[in-house]
Amino acid sequence: MKEPESSKIVLDEFTEELLNSLFEKKGQKSEISDEQKQKIQQLFNVARETNLTKPILDFFAELKKSHDDYGILPEDLGFSYDDLVKIAEKHREIDEHHVTVGGRLCRALPIVEEANARVKEYVEKKDIEAPSGIELWGKIKENARRIKKALGMKEDDWNSFSGQLRFAINSLDDLMKAVELPEEAYRDIREVTRHYRMRLTPYYASLIMPGRVNDPILVQSVPTREMIDNAGIEIPPVAADHSPARLIDQFYPRVLTIKATNMCAMYCTHCLRIAHIGKKDRIYSKEAYREALDYIRQDPYIRDVLITGGDAFILPNDMIRWLLGELDKIDHVRIKRLGTRIPVTSPMRVDEELLDILEESNDIKPLRVVTQVNTAQEITPVSREAFKQISKRVSAVMNQAVLLKGINDTRVKMWKLCETIHEAYIRPYYVFNCSFRNPQFSHLRVPIEVGQDIIESMYGNISGDAIPRYIATAGGKIPLHRTNVVRKEDGQIILRKPWSGEEVAYPDADPDVYANDRYAFARYWK
Ligand SMILES: *Cc1c(COP(=O)(O)O)cnc(C)c1O
Ligand code: SF4
Repeated sequence: MKEPESSKIVLDEFTEELLNSLFEKKGQKSEISDEQKQKIQQLFNVARETNLTKPILDFFAELKKSHDDYGILPEDLGFSYDDLVKIAEKHREIDEHHVTVGGRLCRALPIVEEANARVKEYVEKKDIEAPSGIELWGKIKENARRIKKALGMKEDDWNSFSGQLRFAINSLDDLMKAVELPEEAYRDIREVTRHYRMRLTPYYASLIMPGRVNDPILVQSVPTREMIDNAGIEIPPVAADHSPARLIDQFYPRVLTIKATNMCAMYCTHCLRIAHIGKKDRIYSKEAYREALDYIRQDPYIRDVLITGGDAFILPNDMIRWLLGELDKIDHVRIKRLGTRIPVTSPMRVDEELLDILEESNDIKPLRVVTQVNTAQEITPVSREAFKQISKRVSAVMNQAVLLKGINDTRVKMWKLCETIHEAYIRPYYVFNCSFRNPQFSHLRVPIEVGQDIIESMYGNISGDAIPRYIATAGGKIPLHRTNVVRKEDGQIILRKPWSGEEVAYPDADPDVYANDRYAFARYWK
C-alpha cells in the first residue's frame, strides 16, 4: 500500500493541535449554506495553487470558523486530513521564518488581537479626552486672531519672540482682553496676582480653549485662589546646602546644574522655583558665570553640565554661545544639557542663529535639550516644528513632565502626551510627582499610586522609548516605579507582566557560574 506523502511530514504542535481540533466531532452540528460551502471550496482551490501565505491562512481560518460556529468537519466539505497537512506544510515552506499556519492562526493572531484589545479604549478616547494642539489647530488659530486683535499685536509681533515677550499677558487687564473667564475668577486672579506673578505669552494663551473648565493650559499659566489659600513657606529653589558655588546646584557626582537665569517666558503655576523666578527678573553678571565656570573647571570629576534657570533659551544667543563655548573648552566636561520650556510657550524663539549655535556645540560634544511638556495640547504644528528643528541639531530632545491633577493624571491623557511628544521628535524622560515642598500648588498634586498605575500601564502597550521614568524629588530624584519582581520560588524569580498581571517564572543566573572568574578568555590566563 502506498503511504500518503503527508505521513512523512512532521507537524509542529500548533498545527497538529489545529488539525486535531478541526476533526473533532462536536455534539451539535448545524447546516451551513451551499453558498458557504462553495466559498470554502473556492478558498481551498486558491490555497492549493498559491505561492502566498495569506490564502492558506484564510482557508484555515474559514475552516476553523465553520467548525467552531457550526460543528462542520473538513470531511463534510470533502477535505481529508492529508489534504490539510499538505497545504499546512506549504505555508511553512513559503514563510521565510518557517512560521506554520497553526502557529500563525492560533497563537500569533490571537496575541495581536489581545494586545489591540488592551489599547482599544485609549485609541477611542485619546483625541476626545486629550486632543493635541495639532488636532485643535483650527481653534487655536481662531484664538490667536482674536488675541492678536485684542492686544493690538501686529503679525510680526506675534511671530517674533520679542513681540511675544513685549505683549506678554502679565496683568489682569491683559488677561481679561485675551481670555474670557467668569467674573468671580477675575476677582480672585486680581488678588492672587498681588502675591504671585502671572505671565503668559499671547501664543501660549491662544492654546487655551474658551469655555473649557480647567483647560490644561489655563490651569498651568493663570494663578488661582488656592495659591493664596495654600500659601505657606516658600522653599527657596536652591537650599544653601545644594549650592557649592555661585549659580551652581550640585548633589550628584559628575553632574551639576548652572542656574543661568531666573527668567522664563511664562511663569507656571506649578513651578518649584516659584520663590526664585516668580519675583523679579534679574540679569546675572559675567562674574557670576565666570565663578560658576571656575568651579566646573577645577573639579575634574564633572562630566555633565546642565544649563537651566529659569529657562536657558531666555538667554540671548550670544550668551548661550559663550556659555556652551566655555564648557566645550573644559576637557573633563563631556556632555551638556540645556533646560528650556520656551519651544512650548514661545516656539518663535527658536531662530536659525540659535539652531546654528546648538549644532556647533553638539558637534564638539553631545548637547541635549531638556524640555517640559505636560499635555498633548501644548504640541501644536508650530511647537512641533521647533522641536523638529532642534532635534536635527542636538543629540537628543527629552521631556520632563510634571504629573498634574486634571492635566495628565489619567492613562488616556498621559499616554497621549507621551505619544504626541514622541511624534514631535521628543523622547519622554521623566515624569515628576508634583512636589510637596511648595504648598502653593498642593491642589494640583496627584497621589504617588495613581502615577504608578499610569506609568506602569504603558509597559507593553506603547513604544518603549515613549515611556518615561516616574520620579519624586526629595533631596535628589528618587524613582517611584514599583518593582515587577514579585518573589523568589525554588531558585526562580517570579515576575509580573505589567500589562496583564500574569506571573511568569524567570530562571535567574546560576550564582556558581556567575562567581567563576575563569570564563571566556580568562581561562587561558594564569
Ligand atoms: C535633576 C538634576 C540633575 C540631573 O539629573 P539626571 O537624573 O541626570 O537628569 C543634576 N543636578 C541637579 C542638581 C538636578 O536637580
Ligand atoms: S518654565 Fe520651568 S522654571 Fe520657568 S516657571 Fe515654568 S516650571 Fe518654573
